[in-house]
Amino acid sequence: MRAVVVDEAGSRPEVRDVPEPSAPAGGVVVRVVATGMCRSDWHAWAGHDEIAFPHVPGHELAGEVVEVGAGVARWRVGDRVTVPFVCGCGRCEWCLGGNAQVCPEQEQPGFTHWGSFAELVALHAADTNLVSVPEQVSFATAAALGCRFATAYRALVGRARVVEGEWVTVVGAGGVGLSAVMIARALGARVVAVDRNAEALAVATDLGAEHTVLTGATDGTDVPSAVADLVAGGSHVAVDAVGSEQTCADALLSLRRRGRLVQVGLLPPVEGHPRVPMDRVIAWELDVLGSHGMAAADYPAMMALIASGALQPQRLVERTIGLEEAAALLPAFDRATVAGITVIDPTR
Ligand SMILES: [Zn+2]
Ligand SMILES: [Zn+2]
Repeated sequence: MRAVVVDEAGSRPEVRDVPEPSAPAGGVVVRVVATGMCRSDWHAWAGHDEIAFPHVPGHELAGEVVEVGAGVARWRVGDRVTVPFVCGCGRCEWCLGGNAQVCPEQEQPGFTHWGSFAELVALHAADTNLVSVPEQVSFATAAALGCRFATAYRALVGRARVVEGEWVTVVGAGGVGLSAVMIARALGARVVAVDRNAEALAVATDLGAEHTVLTGATDGTDVPSAVADLVAGGSHVAVDAVGSEQTCADALLSLRRRGRLVQVGLLPPVEGHPRVPMDRVIAWELDVLGSHGMAAADYPAMMALIASGALQPQRLVERTIGLEEAAALLPAFDRATVAGITVIDPTR
């Protein structure tokens, strides 16, 4: 099969033929029809995760089951499926309790094993992790869910428990941030979107952000003051959808007293752990919530809102590219200025 292969951290990704995977016990092989590319792929490529090279990236996928391993009860060849980027083991107390997103034995396609920038991908513990994709939801739409949209959904619904009328500040208007804007609006919340890219903010406005704050690339815009000017006292909820020391602090300091920060953007301790203004957390009794994907068990409620049209993740799909373009794009993806989601079609 054709796949995007990275031979070592930071090396130029290459499209080439590699052996086809076979279904592990309890798992399946899926023919990839659509797979998203995000900043996490770039982190893996750059060597910020523990990856065994050579490696095939890709963790936001949708497609059709083409092989079913021993012991799988719920899935058949031909089923339309997607998976969360965190796949649980299916046996531990967290998986059995519906929280596979924090499974200690978790597998992540594109990180712990070869991923979906390929024609085929193997997935583990299918009965725990696969999610059925209804006919009326396209594969590209489903691929847009696996990481950023589902993460944003869980961040706002499962973690911050946003309610109607609350103000939500979303720092970073990329895939996860724009997803958060759309979901917050669907929940009846009011949104301030913050980004350094005016085009991304225009998309955020289209998706329902009431206010936007444009930060200069280097000019040190005072985001908390800007938010406080727009929303007296600051917002009830803030999402750091970027994951840097600066954006984490901007999100946190834009909260009102007793507000809730959801940290979604990855903050790998590449140059040590980031400094976080914990004095404010204590004095204002802020809640700091981590959010890590979403378990397959929580997908049906979200999928129903997508099938009904109440949520439209397909609006976030910015472009579709082939494997060759994906290989060329990956090394620069941390600097990508495209707003929204890039989807790869491996058959292109
Ligand atoms: Zn588990
Ligand atoms: Zn992702």
